[in-house]
Amino acid sequence: MKKTLVFLLTVNLFAATALGYGPRGHGLVGAIADQRVAKNPTLQTKVSDLLDGLTLQRVATLPDEIKTWDRDPNGFHLWGHQGLEDELRAFVAANPNPTAAHPNPAGVPSHHYFHYTDVPIFGSDQYSLGGIGTSEFDIVQMIPFCIRVLKGDEPVSNERKITKSVALILLVHYLGDIHQPLHVGAEYFDAQGNAFEPTSSNPGFGDQGGGKLTLFTLINGTPRSAGKFHGYWDGQTVQNAFGTTADLKIAKRLANREPDNWQLSGPVNSWAEQLANEILPLAHEAHSRLEFSRIKIAPGSVPGKDDIKSGRASETKKVHGQFYADWAAATVKKEIHKGGWRLAALLEQIL
Ligand SMILES: [Zn+2]
Repeated sequence: MKKTLVFLLTVNLFAATALGYGPRGHGLVGAIADQRVAKNPTLQTKVSDLLDGLTLQRVATLPDEIKTWDRDPNGFHLWGHQGLEDELRAFVAANPNPTAAHPNPAGVPSHHYFHYTDVPIFGSDQYSLGGIGTSEFDIVQMIPFCIRVLKGDEPVSNERKITKSVALILLVHYLGDIHQPLHVGAEYFDAQGNAFEPTSSNPGFGDQGGGKLTLFTLINGTPRSAGKFHGYWDGQTVQNAFGTTADLKIAKRLANREPDNWQLSGPVNSWAEQLANEILPLAHEAHSRLEFSRIKIAPGSVPGKDDIKSGRASETKKVHGQFYADWAAATVKKEIHKGGWRLAALLEQIL
């Protein structure tokens, strides 16, 4: 997802910015972790103290909610938690979202960049800092930054204005984002609009993690618009995965059932890169199950700088016996389950 993307989608009762799982997906990751953390009273007290009594489920959506301050400083308040709100406002002020009238000075990132990376889904499917689509302020770099702050390895007076409380709030959210395939892998197109593997000499045009593509899925054999490709994975897949069951009930059930293959190894500072590399094959499959058409690139667009303008990503047939919607929902269910367990395990290690 690129910095220019600001659009809203409506998912049932929830209005969500497209940069992340929607509120329900993020909330579920936090809620599963709340249940896991509650089994360790010492850890629970530390978490609660850092969050001024708020739950992980509640704070999971804050890094998206604070984006409203880009447009309206009064658009959102954390009533009753003024200290936390002040720290979050300082964080946004130190990492402002640039506008044409107010570009950021060199080296000052937007807090929007921290939620994703755009590794090309072609090639080796491995994250490597410095590679196309990566940056020193992407999600794979910001997760360890927040871990260092919480462990005391990074001063709380850092330039990004990430205090320990802000670091925890960001970690809860980013752990959700990094389990959403389109937050890690992205498709790239050449000047003719064909999907290709970008290189440093021919970087092509990105798709903003699917934000520029409209998804068409098969319904009774007919392709129908399912909205923006990225937004579909943020919201609709979560609804398809969990239906109308209450989130607390889902969280309790998933917190008591160990997910397959969830444990990570090595130092916690390496976990974000492990997570990115784990989900890249799913990002690849999220694209390879579809066919791209009508890719539009605006006249005068610069490769490596501009993204495609629009295009279609269409399901044309069942793959491995599954419709896209069923595969995506099953994938999201597993990822949110693992995300919740990993968040709790991470907090256990660093707090
Ligand atoms: Zn996000």
